[in-house]
Amino acid sequence: MAVVREVKAVKMFMGKLECGADLLEEITRICVDKGIHLGRVEALGAVKKARLGYYNQKEREYHFYELDQTLEITNLVGNVSIKDGAPIVHAHVTFSDKDGHAYGGHLAPGTIVFACEVIIQVLDGSKFERGLDQETGLPLWNMNE
Ligand code: ZN
Repeated sequence: MAVVREVKAVKMFMGKLECGADLLEEITRICVDKGIHLGRVEALGAVKKARLGYYNQKEREYHFYELDQTLEITNLVGNVSIKDGAPIVHAHVTFSDKDGHAYGGHLAPGTIVFACEVIIQVLDGSKFERGLDQETGLPLWNMNE
């Protein structure tokens, strides 16, 4: 059964990331600096190269792959919650190449920004904390607390 909680939109931060920054690490750093523990993220722009993950459900582990080319960020969507006491950004992203072909997956460190415009919406509500989910092997939200 789905478990959902009510959260309330508080405010938003909107800005741009620096050329050469690591996309995931930079968004995470903003959340740490601004004290954001719960939120949603969206972004668009372009990257110099990308690193994405795919979760192999049978092996219960991530496989990471690199796209060593310049790409457009056609969509980045993610959320902010807590893992091991610190903010963690979980984001999925779709990129397109010079021919408009798309690639997508779980955003991993190693994706380097060329230009990026980001919006982070801060939410207020009870804590969303990640912990190991036995059924999937993933660090999912523990909603039973
Ligand atoms: Zn993911």
